This record gives sequence, C-alpha cells and structure tokens, in this order.
Amino acid sequence: MATLDGLPPLRDVIQRYGLDARKALGQNFLFDLNLTQKIARSAGPLDGVTVFEVGPGPGGLTRAILSLGAKKVIAIERDSRCLPALAEIGDHYPGRLEVIEGDALKTDFAALAPEGPVKIIANLPYNVGTQLLLNWLLPENGQWPPFWESLTLMFQREVGLRIVADEDDDHYGRLGVLAGWRTEARMVFDVPPQAFSPPPKVTSTVVHLTPRQNPLPCDVGKLERVTQAAFGQRRKMLRQSLKPLGGESLLVKAGIDPSRRAETLSVEEFVRLANCL
Ligand code: SAM
Repeated sequence: MATLDGLPPLRDVIQRYGLDARKALGQNFLFDLNLTQKIARSAGPLDGVTVFEVGPGPGGLTRAILSLGAKKVIAIERDSRCLPALAEIGDHYPGRLEVIEGDALKTDFAALAPEGPVKIIANLPYNVGTQLLLNWLLPENGQWPPFWESLTLMFQREVGLRIVADEDDDHYGRLGVLAGWRTEARMVFDVPPQAFSPPPKVTSTVVHLTPRQNPLPCDVGKLERVTQAAFGQRRKMLRQSLKPLGGESLLVKAGIDPSRRAETLSVEEFVRLANCL
C-alpha cells in the first residue's frame, strides 16, 4: 500500500523489525502519517531548520518532519531495536537523518546544535518528558535565549495543562511558573489514546513553547527554591509554606500579602520573591 512519503506503512515496519512496544521505554507509537504531519506542522515552517527529535522509535514523526522539508533531523533513540528501521528512512532522505543511540536525559543538546535555526519536536516517552522539558527550560550552561527556536512536544494532557497554566488555575504549579517565566506556552491539540499503539490510558496533547527573548531577570536556583517551598504546601498561606525561606519578612520585603496562597501568585510575583531571597 502506498504511503504519503513512498516508504512502507509503519505497521509493516514494526512487524518486519519485531518492534513490540516496551512499557519501560514509554513506547506508544503513532502509525498515522497524517497525524504525525499535523504534529510536525504545528512547529511552523521547517525549511532550513535542523530538528532534534527525542525517541523517533520506528520513525512515524521523523518521516513527517523530513517530508515537510526540514534540513536535517538529529534523532536520539535509546532502543537499539529501532535503528535498522531508522536507517531505511535515512536511505530515503540521504544526508538528512542522523541517529544517535543514547539516553536523551544524558545528551548535551546545546553542544550538538549546529549553526542556524533549531527546533525540537518529539512524541516524548512519558516517564522522562517533564525532566527533558525542565532540562531545555533551565539549561545547565545558563544560556538564554536557548539554542532552540521552539519546542513542539507531546505530553499527557494533564502535564500539558500544568505547563500552560496561569495563576488561579487548578493546574498551576512549579512547572507553570518555570515555563511561564521563560517561554510562551500553548496547547495546540489533543490526541486520543486510540491514535497510539498500544493506546495509553489517558488523552495526550501537543504543547508548543517559544522562548521569551527577555524573561524577567532572576536566579534559576532561587526561583526553584521559592516555587518548590510554596507549592510543596499549596493549600497553606505563604507565611507558613515559605517559613524555611524567611516567611513573613520575605513576603513583606517582596510586597506580597503573607496570607495569600501559592496558586494566586503570578509569575512576576514569584520572580519578585526569588529576587528578595
Ligand atoms: N516517535 C515515535 C512515535 O511517535 O511513534 C515513538 C514515540 S514513543 C512515545 C517514545 C520513544 O522514546 C520510544 O521510541 C522510546 O524507545 C524512546 N525513549 C524512551 N526513553 C528514552 C530516552 N531516555 N532517551 C531517548 N529515547 C528514549
């Protein structure tokens, strides 16, 4: 059967290479190339762009990214069983796919990033998705704006809601503050469990993040400490939850009413608190 890009259908690829999905690796594969193209398209134009993809698996999203004209895909995959299937895609798009076998959590993306525009697109393994996002939001080298122009990432819907949440939203927490501080984040569209093989238990969602060029000046470590303490006891008044960091006197110094609760503070107010530490 013909496919959009002339490569074999993904179900055949999975069968031929014996790629039964492994839960421990967060493997929920996408087979529908119309859907993977829709995900890749939500990253915006890809002409001349190098794309980092985490966890290409059998390559459904990789194929979409390449077919939409990305200059190159650098894909990091932990499961060596996927490499022959990815090599087939590399042969179809000569010189445009580089596969690195390894753990994305231990990968220094900034060091691998070439000159020119870079975007990150991935259907993330759920067990490491949040940590990867934090690594891109809070890079160890401190570089901001970062090497990437945008992140287009699939998460569990629940995690997506936490990333885009603002104050006074039930999903607002540490992730919303950190993402809101450094990026503009929005949910693009939901993907139902049936779209994956095997289907996960919950709905997924694609989140798109672009870096703020000039986020409010703040020390990352201090912002993390404040948000951790405040949301660690989110139902308590801040004078109580922030006690280990100075409690009432810290709040007064920052001009914030000590009887407020963490979920009512804007990102700007969290930054003010961190800067008073
Ligand atoms: N991109 C494929 C798709 O959309 O069909 C597969 C997505 S699947 C949700 C996640 C992929 O990430 C799997 O191929 C898995 O082997 C890979 N993976 C899991 N943990 C990883 C890690 N720490 N580093 C790199 N890849 C990882």
